[in-house]
Amino acid sequence: MKVRSFRMAGNMNLRLAAAAVALPVAVFGLAACSGLQGGQAEVYSESFFAMDTYMTFTIYGANADTALKQAEGQIKELEGLWSVTDTGSDIYAANHSGGEPVVVDEKTFELIDFVLDMAEETGGALEPTIYPVLSAWGFTTGENREPSAQEIAELLKSVGYEKVQMEGGSVCLEEGCMLDLGSVGKGFAGDEVVQVLKESGIESALLDIGGNIQAVGTRPDGSGWRVGLKDPFSGGVLGVIKISEEAVVTSGSYERYFIGADGKRYGHIIDPATGYPVDNGLASVSVIAGEGKLCDALSTALFVMGLEGAKDYWQQNQDFDMILITEDGSIYITEGIKDRFSLQEEYRNMLVNVIEGMTISES
Ligand code: ADP
Ligand code: MG
Repeated sequence: MKVRSFRMAGNMNLRLAAAAVALPVAVFGLAACSGLQGGQAEVYSESFFAMDTYMTFTIYGANADTALKQAEGQIKELEGLWSVTDTGSDIYAANHSGGEPVVVDEKTFELIDFVLDMAEETGGALEPTIYPVLSAWGFTTGENREPSAQEIAELLKSVGYEKVQMEGGSVCLEEGCMLDLGSVGKGFAGDEVVQVLKESGIESALLDIGGNIQAVGTRPDGSGWRVGLKDPFSGGVLGVIKISEEAVVTSGSYERYFIGADGKRYGHIIDPATGYPVDNGLASVSVIAGEGKLCDALSTALFVMGLEGAKDYWQQNQDFDMILITEDGSIYITEGIKDRFSLQEEYRNMLVNVIEGMTISES
């Protein structure tokens, strides 16, 4: 019989010093660091607004200009398919089909299939049908409100990824159930763009998709990309992660939130188990892995799971790395990025805990 024994080595303190304390609230996420001008390579960079966010694509090499246009076109096309509000989108059609199956684009099918898998994998922490609850809190319009417990309970009845069926190119939602791909769409789109760029012969590019960072290859000089991890409290750059051919995606409640009548902060990521915005002591979760879609799905799901849940999930999967920042100012990183992550000078006194892998034994 296969036995998995979970022996988690204790957290190793890289730096023993007082953790940061109450800091002012601000925007957080990831930012591409400077140092983009590598060698003599031809470089094109463009910023634009799509999928409800700002994107900046920086592409090196011959054909960079045409590749950039293609990449932008790809994003616009996917946006058209996945918008929740655009009446011409696949998602709109699925959400307003009155329980009937709707034929969707191949890419939409692929994305929904992936999201449903991840919802199951994460025990429902990732819940692509949370939309009615998200709307009740006003996150879809920006006019935030605090729904009553009764209203939330009522809305939760129409939430559940098992209410989404897929068959032969079509998707079918139970009546009242609504899909929202906001938690993974950008990551999936990033993977598509990476693919398009590679097919155009691009070997070096950095995509900033509304804070999701995705890299093609390395910098033109062969060194890794330096990605800044933003301080969820102050907005400053807290640390730097070196990546190549990978994605880094962050989720948290500091980007989109409102302050309720009770003075509490309510963020845009909802705990599907309660219908309330996540409030578990985590300030942000960043996931580093090869694929943007995995990073995006996991950053949202691990944020819902909380520190202990996220550690457990990582122990059992380990096909990604993560950086967790708690509201009391501690940092937890997985061992795989220990040597690729460094704190900025002014954060050097923060406590960094390294989460080490379990030993798998068979008997
Ligand atoms: P962002 O899109 O801000 O970078 P995320 O990838 O974490 O951040 O996605 C958050 C979005 O996902 C929310 O704005 C909402 O549309 C949706 N969402 C909120 N809670 C959940 C959840 N538990 N599971 C799946 N999607 C969620
Ligand atoms: Mg996400």
